[in-house]
This record gives sequence, C-alpha cells and structure tokens, in this order.
Amino acid sequence: MNARGKAIESISSNTPIRGGIVDYRQHSFVERYATYVFHEEVQRKRLPAKVFQSLQQTIKKGAELDASIADSVATAMRDWAMEHGATHYSHWFQPLTGSTAEKHDSFLSPTDSLKALARFSGSELIRGESDASSFPSGGLRATFEARGYTAWDPSSPAFILKNPNGATLVIPTMFVSWTGESLDRKTPMLKSLNALNKHALRVLRVFGNTRTQRVECTLGVEQEYFLIDKRLAALRPDLLVVGRTLFGARPSKGQELDDNYFGAIPERVLAFMTEVESELMLLGVPIKTRHNEVAPGQYELAPTFETTNLALDHQMLVMQLLRQVAKRHGLLCLLHEKPFAGINGSGKHNNWSIGTDDGENLLEPGDTPGSNAQFLIFCAAVCRAVHRYSKLLRLSIASAGNDFRLGAAEAPPAIISIHLGHVLTDVFQMLVEGDTPERPALPEKKSRRRKLDEDFPIHIGLPMIPRLQRDTGDRNRTSPFAFTGNKFEFRAVGSSQNSSAAITVLNTIVAESLDFIATRLEEARTIGGDFAMAVRKLLVEMIQEFQPVLFDGDNYSMDWLAESERRGLPNLRNTVDCLPVLTEPASIELFWKYGVYTEAELFGRQEILAEIYGTTIGIEAATMLKMSQTMILPAVMKYKRNLQGVADTPTQKRVLDELNDKIDLLITGIDTLKNCVAALRPDMSHMEKAIYCRDSVLSAMYALRVIVDYLEGMTDDALWPLPSYLELLFLR
Ligand code: ADP
Ligand code: MG
Repeated sequence: MNARGKAIESISSNTPIRGGIVDYRQHSFVERYATYVFHEEVQRKRLPAKVFQSLQQTIKKGAELDASIADSVATAMRDWAMEHGATHYSHWFQPLTGSTAEKHDSFLSPTDSLKALARFSGSELIRGESDASSFPSGGLRATFEARGYTAWDPSSPAFILKNPNGATLVIPTMFVSWTGESLDRKTPMLKSLNALNKHALRVLRVFGNTRTQRVECTLGVEQEYFLIDKRLAALRPDLLVVGRTLFGARPSKGQELDDNYFGAIPERVLAFMTEVESELMLLGVPIKTRHNEVAPGQYELAPTFETTNLALDHQMLVMQLLRQVAKRHGLLCLLHEKPFAGINGSGKHNNWSIGTDDGENLLEPGDTPGSNAQFLIFCAAVCRAVHRYSKLLRLSIASAGNDFRLGAAEAPPAIISIHLGHVLTDVFQMLVEGDTPERPALPEKKSRRRKLDEDFPIHIGLPMIPRLQRDTGDRNRTSPFAFTGNKFEFRAVGSSQNSSAAITVLNTIVAESLDFIATRLEEARTIGGDFAMAVRKLLVEMIQEFQPVLFDGDNYSMDWLAESERRGLPNLRNTVDCLPVLTEPASIELFWKYGVYTEAELFGRQEILAEIYGTTIGIEAATMLKMSQTMILPAVMKYKRNLQGVADTPTQKRVLDELNDKIDLLITGIDTLKNCVAALRPDMSHMEKAIYCRDSVLSAMYALRVIVDYLEGMTDDALWPLPSYLELLFLR
C-alpha cells in the first residue's frame, strides 16, 4: 500500500482526532467572554482613575496619547497578564505579507544578586524596535537601515494568547520606518478612518446634527475556508507549500448537486468550529454564525460587527485561530482564494457601514427611504466613491490567489459595480426624473415601480409565522459590492487577505465624496435659501454621475461584460493590470490629500505587490516542477512498465501507446516550465518579473497541469501518489 492508501485507511478506520474539549457547563460563554482581553472594565478596575480617563479619551475620542500615563498602564497590564500566566509581551503588527508578525520579549529582568524582577515599562509598551529588515518595504527602508518601529495602538485592547506551556501578553501595534513611513496595513487604515470621520462630521453638521462627536465605520467580516484531513494534505506538497492544489482532475462529483450549502455540519468539523469559537470568545471576538458553504469541505464563519479597527484585528485573529485549531483536530485549514480548480473559491465578505458614537447607523434608511435625505446623501456618497475610484477598489483586493477566483463564474467579477436593490434604485431614478420620492409615481404610468412606503411583506403562507419584513436590499450574490439594507457588502475581497487594504481604500474614497458633499452643502447653507432643494440638486447631480456603476442584474453573465464595457467601467482582469493604478496622479493626489499614503509609500507598496505576486507564482512553479518530476513522472513510468509486460492485443497496446504519448507530453511540459522559470533574470525589476510571470509562467503552469490531470485519469489508481479531489473534498 502506498502512503496515500495508508492515509485513506487511517482516516476511514480511526475515530476522528479531537482537539481540546469545550464544556460550557462549568463556565458559560457569558462568563468566559473576553476573559483574556485588557478591556474597559479591567482597565477601570486596575488603573488609577485619572489614567483610566485619559486612556479612554484616546481610545474613544481619538485624543492624543498622554505619554506620561504609559508607565502606569504598562504596570497594570503586566500584573494582569502575569495573573493569567504570561511571561512575555509581544508587539503584534500587520506587515504587508498579509499575515501578522510578532516578536516576544520576556518580562524577566535579572538583578545583580541572582534575583529576578518582572519589568515592563511605559516606553516598552509605547514603542518597540524591530529588527525588521526582512519585512517587505518596497525600498522604503533600505536593508542597511534595518530599524522599523512598532507603536502601540491603544484603540485596540491588549490580549493574552495562551499556549500549552504559558502565555503571552499581545499588544496591537502599528509598524513604521524610522522616517515615519508606514510599513504595515494598520497605520494607513487608521489614517483613513480619521479622514472619513472628519468629513462625515462636516456633513452631519450641515444637516443640523450637533451631538455626534465621532463617526466610526463598522465592519463585520464573513470568512470562508476549506478543511482537509491533515493526513491527506501531508501527501500534497502543493497544499503544504502554497495552500492550493496545483494538480488534480475534476472529481465525478463536485458541487453539482448543491447538497452542501447549509447542510448538516459533520460532527468532526463542528467539534473544530466549537473550539475555534471558544478560543475566540475568550479573546472577545464575537463569532455569531457558522455554516457549510457551497463547495464540499467548505465552511463559513461570521462575527457580529464591531468598530473597524477592532474588527480588523479580530479578523486577523480569526484566520490565525482557524489555522491553529485545525491542526489540533488533524485538519488543515485552507484560506487560499482558490484551492481547487472547478470548485468554488473562498472569499471574505466585508460588511461595512458608517455609524456615529451616539449609535446612529448613517446607512440605515428611515421608515420611508425616500424622505430620508441624510441617508440618501451618505448612500450616494458611497456610490459616487465606488464609481470614481473603482480601479482603486479593484486594486485593493488584487493578489495572485484572488486572480483565480474573481470572475471564475462563482465569485464577483473583476468589474466593480454596485447592487442597490430596487427600492433605492427607484428612489434614485425618481429623483433624476423629477418625481418627488415621498409621492410614488402612479403605478399605471410606470408599472415596474413599486410603491415606496409599503413594507413589502413576504407572504409565506404559514399562518403561525408572522409576516417578514423584506430587506430593502434584496439578495444578489453575484455583485461585488452590494447594499444590503443598512450596510454595504464588499464581496470581492479574497479569503486569505488582510481586509485592511480594501477598507483603507473604501474609507478614503468615501471621505473624498463626503468632503465634496460637505463643501457644496456648506456653501448652500451660507448662501441661504431652500436647503432641501440644494440637497436634492446635489443628489441628482451625483446620481447622474455614478449611474453607470449601478447594476442589479447577473454579474456573471456575458451580457454584463459587454454592457459594462459600453458603460465605460474598467475591467482590470488581474493583479498586474491593477498595479499601475496605485501610482496614477489621481491616486497620489487622493491619498496625499486625505493623509493616508505619501507618494513614497504608494510607490513602495506597488513594488511590494509586484514582488509578492512574482514570488508567489515563482514558488508555485517550483513546487509544480518538483511534484511532476519526483512524484508524477515516476508513477506514470511505473504504470507504463506494468502495462508493457501484459498489453498484448492491438487494442490493449493502444492504451500503452496513448500513455507513451502523454508521458512525452508530460516531459515536454516539464521542460517548457523549467525553461520559462529559468528565463527569470535577477536583474529584472519586480514589475518586469510580475508581467513575465503573468504572461509566460502562468500559461506554462496551466499547460503542465492539463497533461498531469489527464494522466491522473488514465493511470493505475494504486500508483497515483497524490490524494484525489474526491478524497480531499469528501474524506473526513
Ligand atoms: P446578511 O444576511 O445580510 O449577511 P447579517 O445580519 O447576517 O446579514 O450580517 C452579516 C454580517 O454583516 C455580520 O457579520 C454582521 O455583523 C454584519 N453587519 C450587520 N450590520 C452591520 C453594520 N451596521 N455594519 C457593519 N456590519 C454589519
Ligand atoms: Mg453575506
């Protein structure tokens, strides 16, 4: 029996591997929630009143941090962490690699007399120095100047990460170069929040709101992922190295029967999910839903939304714990955007809204959407932003992995458009056509319009169930950017990506729209006259501008491709197409004006994106070569030998002949890819490499895959070294 056979036998005969046991009878989730977080209540209890108040000003109002309180906060944090068994602290940051980074320092401080003290000072809390020359910086920090600084982000509370032998106090931080350029995802995101806050407040003020002190974005990120048995995954270098299958013939059953979505969750998977949720619960990450996804072996988890900075840090923890806990359960968690060809990929739906510190959701329509001018203005601001800067949004989700998913008939396409739903579309339409939104047009005149102020009851025909109120935004799973009743959902983000990149762009472009709107309405207020008319005029003007980006139809259809082209919407098909957008004059101007990125940072990030793209494809190609030469070729040669002795009729020999032909093609495919990779010269720029990878390496990889997948279909199954799609997707 080969290794694959043994793995399969082990999976089918063994009881599932179990991770930790979660038992909520001892301590309910109410008690356990956020146990490991240095949250407001803990702070209040442990900090001197003055220090607590000052810290809260910084956290809640964005006031500048008073450095003199740092020592006091650090001491309280240290004591609290040590009570939880912590020996170390770690500045935790989000470099441009997509994951998180951490460096641990012990509290331990020896004294002269062979005694030890636990030390953690304010300056250690506030600033860390990372020997960070190996993080991508796109030339912003030359490697000889290896210093990068981590800076405490007080707006995201510190927490404790346990391991089987201890615990670490984790401090969320920003990561910047010695000249102050951001080298991470968090810093520009926080800057974009400030820009949005500033201009959203201006808009609220012209509408007469004097209460709101701060506008915050809210975010809830749904995460899709696959689970594969570790014993099978261990036999696939591609899954281990790049997180996706580089080979694999289509299985006889995939997702055709649609029998997986919302199906019963397998027991082993449920045990895993429960443990993930339990760990996240201790960290104060509010996971709300879990279910099977469309593809076999695919699942989803979603939290309750939170303020953006917290939600994004929590999202990074979700990815980290999914991966970690899976291992305890003998599973490999795949966060790649497209682990299996021909099977649905994984995304990350970013539910995003704008709210005030006094609890108002600015994207929540009033009882009658048509009459709610402020809501319409905010909604129009988002639409205008997405229309004007759709290329930047597309860029923010570009990666080698997401390229395989976007537009692959199951994910939103690379063309950015907005699904608004019929209620809002009708309101906008009426505004442009001159009808008063409060007074719906006569049904006989325009019959396709529905009455606006109706509550659209859905009759389900079961008397015991009350009438459901229909969402004003109805569902369109095919749209990359959809209004879903009281928030927008950016669905094109990839499952392995740090959402911060997308959210930074979204916040900035909406800030620009709100700035435009505030300026116009402030003028109108100064001039005097009918303010409502001024709002209406502005709305009409904006709607006319952004109308081409609105599309409620099927985004997967070929018609939309033609239609979007006619409307002049950009279609940036892959990462390399997106890269130039980052340094176009309009982008530089935008990010500079709102204080989010400097020109140098944009050029730096462009370099890094190109580098990561080229490196990813380079690693994939190398993995493919290794697998096809050391696993596939020997297997098919062995099969050939086996046939050679026994194929004696002309018909049987035909099988051998075909095998021979295919083996030749395999060797040719390997040679072509090898030559292709060899042509990558060290003196090429990152951009040149990226372009070359897209245009040449990817097609050589594809050609090799086609022949290997064909061979999988004709080779003796007992000799095939790689677990098949069927086994990967269905065995657990
Ligand atoms: P849907 O059925 O539209 O997916 P849910 O209520 O299940 O709606 O929400 C999906 C995600 O959207 C959840 O993570 C939820 O917390 C988040 N969400 C809901 N309201 C908001 C909001 N105002 N801002 C940001 N995210 C939100
Ligand atoms: Mg959703």
